[in-house]
Amino acid sequence: MNNIFFRSMLSLFLVLSGMSLKAQFPRFKVLAFYSKTVESAHVDFANDAIKFFKELTVGRGFVFDTTSNMADLNENKIKDYQLLMMINDFPHSEAQRKAFQNYMEQGGGWFGFHVAAYNDRTTKWPWFVDFLGGGIFYRNNWPPMPAALVVEDLQHPVTKGLPKTFVAPINEWYQWKPSPRERKNVKVFASLSSDNYPLGLKDIIPDGDTPVAWSNTDYRMVYLNVGHGHHIFTDATQNKMIIAALRWVIATDKKGNVFR
Ligand code: ZN
Repeated sequence: MNNIFFRSMLSLFLVLSGMSLKAQFPRFKVLAFYSKTVESAHVDFANDAIKFFKELTVGRGFVFDTTSNMADLNENKIKDYQLLMMINDFPHSEAQRKAFQNYMEQGGGWFGFHVAAYNDRTTKWPWFVDFLGGGIFYRNNWPPMPAALVVEDLQHPVTKGLPKTFVAPINEWYQWKPSPRERKNVKVFASLSSDNYPLGLKDIIPDGDTPVAWSNTDYRMVYLNVGHGHHIFTDATQNKMIIAALRWVIATDKKGNVFR
């Protein structure tokens, strides 16, 4: 074997091995929890969400597993997933709550929609309320309606490239008391514009601060209030934010950014 041939084979090998190091597919794994037995508008959203995220896995970029069994929220099942998604439900039993808390405290990722953050006096899970930024469900609009959102930070990876305001598709919007914004460790990405008020016909949100997308920066998590009915994925701007939120939580994994 002559020298030049050997060297060119060596460089080809180095190029190929470099490529294979970069191209590790799937890049990450998501486990999405959903319920088929909650209110029908939340089941509609779950069906749409599963379809939306499954389509994003084309090319085996990532794994999107789903389960409608909340008992799967246990250490053994969730340990290999980089992100747990709560589409239309939340942990119920003590064991599920404990498994979730441990997962998050050890650096796991969470992406929750709409009712995933619902809590009231009957919830009796202070850690979870704190995790969400301290807000208790206060009031909502009815019927579900589109609403103008204000994007609050155009530089953050979750909101980069979005317009300052956009009209989000029909949703039931929740307001929280106190507003999660009052917490220093909460980063608000988007909120209801005050131009919407009074929002609703039967149930009214008349005023107040209403964050709709935020992170508790003590954890790797994003909460997004959209998730009611079958219109959520009809807006490209909002879809962009949803994908960016997923990407950001994954990218901040303590083991490194899989997108680099
Ligand atoms: Zn709802």
